[in-house]
Amino acid sequence: MANNNPIANQENLHFFGDVCKNFDYAAQFTHHDAGLLDQIKSCNSVYRFRFPIRKGDGFEVIDAWRVEHSQHQSPTKGGIRYSEMVNEDEVMALAALMTYKCAIVNVPFGGAKGGIRINPKNYTVQELENITRRYTVELIKKNFIGPSIDVPAPDYGSGEREMSWIADTYATMNPGQLDAMGCVTGKPIALQGIQGRREATGRGVAIAVRECVSVVEDMKKIGLQPGINGKRVIVQGLGNVGFHTAKFLAEFGAVIVGLCEFEGAIYNEDGLDVESVFQHRKETGSILGYKGAKKEFTNSHLGLEQDCDILVPAALENQITAANINNIKAKIIAEGANGPTSPEAESVFYSKGGLIIPDMYANAGGVTVSYFEWLKNLSHVAFGRMNRRFEETANTNLVNMVEGITGVALSPLQRSTIIKGASELELVNSGLEDTMIRSYHEIRETFKNTEKIDTLRTAAFVGAINKIAVSYKNLGVWP
Ligand code: NAD
Repeated sequence: MANNNPIANQENLHFFGDVCKNFDYAAQFTHHDAGLLDQIKSCNSVYRFRFPIRKGDGFEVIDAWRVEHSQHQSPTKGGIRYSEMVNEDEVMALAALMTYKCAIVNVPFGGAKGGIRINPKNYTVQELENITRRYTVELIKKNFIGPSIDVPAPDYGSGEREMSWIADTYATMNPGQLDAMGCVTGKPIALQGIQGRREATGRGVAIAVRECVSVVEDMKKIGLQPGINGKRVIVQGLGNVGFHTAKFLAEFGAVIVGLCEFEGAIYNEDGLDVESVFQHRKETGSILGYKGAKKEFTNSHLGLEQDCDILVPAALENQITAANINNIKAKIIAEGANGPTSPEAESVFYSKGGLIIPDMYANAGGVTVSYFEWLKNLSHVAFGRMNRRFEETANTNLVNMVEGITGVALSPLQRSTIIKGASELELVNSGLEDTMIRSYHEIRETFKNTEKIDTLRTAAFVGAINKIAVSYKNLGVWP
């Protein structure tokens, strides 16, 4: 299927430069030694490799990368992207963003990222399995994977299935390694994955948006009513991040007025039912032709420019640039994808009175729950297993006592609501929500309290740089 987005088709070879540009701008608001800043900014290890796979009657050589941006904390962590547009610059940029993202949400990992240059749609499941297993073996050979070294996860074009192939290959090549399953996250539940990981990034984006629009003072500045209820949202990308972001925002009370995919975009100011659009696309292969849409566009990029309060780009980088920023009607851009807004577009958007919730905070829900999964793998026990029954017994005793003293009996529903101990999913969601809310206010405080800091992104970078600098100082690397 042809990509009708003119911007996405260009090789984006300035992504790492853009991340460094943002870093340098933010660094002026910190007081660290130039050498230390350079150490934080640079990519520590860039591994580029090629390997052959059998395809049809012949062979094909696959290009692949793994970049470990920073080892100020171990292991390093970041997804693996399966896309024919992957290049070294992109993997370096995404690895760097992982470093800052982990620091922002206080996840004790360094940043990394992987890339395999293929369009998964052009390969059979058997070929994808061969590619993934061979990719993993190449990482093992160079010590680029392991529960205490570097822990991949899903990204654009990959998911639970690929993560299980990686875990199985790693465990096979490392017999007897007790923590082997902690070599990768985003695994299926049956293979020691964790409840809530699949939807974590989208849930996190939705919580970030809800938190942002709940601040009365900030909404007044950009001319929006506070509160998520009734906010009109357009989401680009109906994959893992986009689908779940749209679903949770709708659950929180927002109205999803537009959805954009590869092949086109649909719009209805009264709202679209995300689940049923998803089913329609699954059945017909296209978002277009959905009965509940009032407008549709074969040029998917036009979907971004429709009337809304909040735009969530959740597909790929470089979607909002100098070329289209002046047509964007949203007041808030919440970056579900990594790097969707160019620095030039960002400054135009702020000058028009908009607000951007930056990628390295907005989509950090995935790595946060990956951290919980890794902890579960290392501890070899599911969250809630040790205390759920204990909590229920203690709560039952308390309710019985209160009922006995007051003579008032609770209804079965009231009783079960109070008594219930927390499940793994509830604990994961609670940890995720707490992380997203706390981190938002940490960034906002820096934004608000430092006069010259003009974007939430710069504030997020400043916080990340300061935390990483402390790690280096604690390692004794810098005085
Ligand atoms: P995905 O492969 O599940 O979904 C991406 C979707 O975007 C696909 O449905 C694809 O068809 C669509 N798309 C591609 N080009 C498009 C275009 N030009 N216009 C509209 N739609 C288009 O990928 P994902 O995991 O949802 O990742 C999306 C973004 O979020 C990436 O930037 C990724 O790095 C970032 N991200 C993902 C995670 C995660 O946990 N999966 C975590 C953090 C950040």
